[in-house]
Amino acid sequence: LGGSISRALQQMSNATIIDEKVLNECLNEITRALLQSDVQFKLVRDMQTNIKKIVNLDDLAAGHNKRKIIQQAIFNELCKMLDPGKPSFTPKKGKTSVVMFVGLQGSGKTTTCTKYAYYHQKKGWKPALVCADTFRAGAFDQLKQNATKAKIPFYGSYMESDPVKIAVEGVERFKQENCDLIIVDTSGRHKQEVALFEEMRQVSEATKPDLVIFVMDSSIGQAAFDQAQAFKQSVAVGAVIVTKMDGHAKGGGALSAVAATKSPVIFIGTGEHMDEFEVFDVKPFVSRLLGMGDWSGFMDKIHEVVPMDQQPELLQKLSEGNFTLRIMYEQFQNILKMGPIGQVFSMLPGFSAELMPKGREKESQAKIKRYMTMMDSMTNEELDSSNPKLMNESRIMRIARGSGRHVREVMEMFEEYKRLAKIWSKMKGLKIPKKGDMSAL
Ligand code: GDP
Ligand code: MG
Repeated sequence: LGGSISRALQQMSNATIIDEKVLNECLNEITRALLQSDVQFKLVRDMQTNIKKIVNLDDLAAGHNKRKIIQQAIFNELCKMLDPGKPSFTPKKGKTSVVMFVGLQGSGKTTTCTKYAYYHQKKGWKPALVCADTFRAGAFDQLKQNATKAKIPFYGSYMESDPVKIAVEGVERFKQENCDLIIVDTSGRHKQEVALFEEMRQVSEATKPDLVIFVMDSSIGQAAFDQAQAFKQSVAVGAVIVTKMDGHAKGGGALSAVAATKSPVIFIGTGEHMDEFEVFDVKPFVSRLLGMGDWSGFMDKIHEVVPMDQQPELLQKLSEGNFTLRIMYEQFQNILKMGPIGQVFSMLPGFSAELMPKGREKESQAKIKRYMTMMDSMTNEELDSSNPKLMNESRIMRIARGSGRHVREVMEMFEEYKRLAKIWSKMKGLKIPKKGDMSAL
């Protein structure tokens, strides 16, 4: 997809005169590409109409960067399509919420339930998992295994075949135990079947969830709209999670799911492991959909704000792909100074959304300072190593003691490091475009 969109825009920027015809050809090409990326036909057509309203041909003719203007218009339009206009219900820590997961078999419900629980547990919540999947053999074992690994309480049964009964018992039990996030995993079927939707309706009616999350495999293709709509018609879907974003699929079906459920995407799954789970961030998602690469904005920023003499060193480090704790330390220093490189790093997808959420800059700064205090207690060997295995228990204890922080906090700092190292490693071997050649990305 990215290729054909870039190609379409390339053709357009090569054309000397941009007229209605050229713009139409370009839009048709993009339409085809979006369809291939599983965006629903109706949505693509709406977008096309809107783009035509927005893009002013007179402006385009006046020597502006046509490609950029059209790309920006498409980008904005897709971002808007992913915004249903109202946020989803957000559970509150310390207040009991019941969250029910629905989706077809294999979409990633059970995996995502655990990720969702684990994500909240790390933030100090008391989550619990209820297995109301009595359809698939082994469903309870899978949930039990996941839950045990994450040390999350769980409820289920090998004997009981009534999902409604189990769901109600589980929810009741965890309410009594004062859990603040009770997650109900449900069954799926291979196909959209009447029996499945009836079961979902009954489980929902009996457990009265505060939020129903529709879990969608990013690779389901054009089926996304009908599937999401079918679930929405039987239960009150209020949010979407898109899984398997680590695969090849670009996730165009997410636009359909948002349109069909009128609910926002809240998280994405990026792997089979418990911590491969990210808060949904619309801009990188759309960049990927358009094949622009998550890095285009980042690279723009580097050329824009990093002093020329500092660029080569930074880019060199980036292309080597080895992210050490020392690099993290230096970037933290930059962020605190809010020097130019600090600004750049605050653009990194991982840095901005997780480490430095908008509107909470003060807290983020305090956290970064805490991390730096801990890193001050590390040896040079530890700072310069990019081998995560080096940090064994005794080293972690020593760092905690040396910096007067909890072991838990030191571990949290390492988690942060590992997350950033993973993002950074994607830059490895990246060809750094020269200034003015950003479109190559
Ligand atoms: P369920 O039938 O909806 O409960 O789906 P499962 O949670 O059992 O997941 C089905 C398969 O997809 C399992 O093999 C999971 O490990 C895998 N899976 C789930 N989420 C992701 C993801 O984000 N990335 C990848 N690569 N695999 C995933
Ligand atoms: Mg399951």
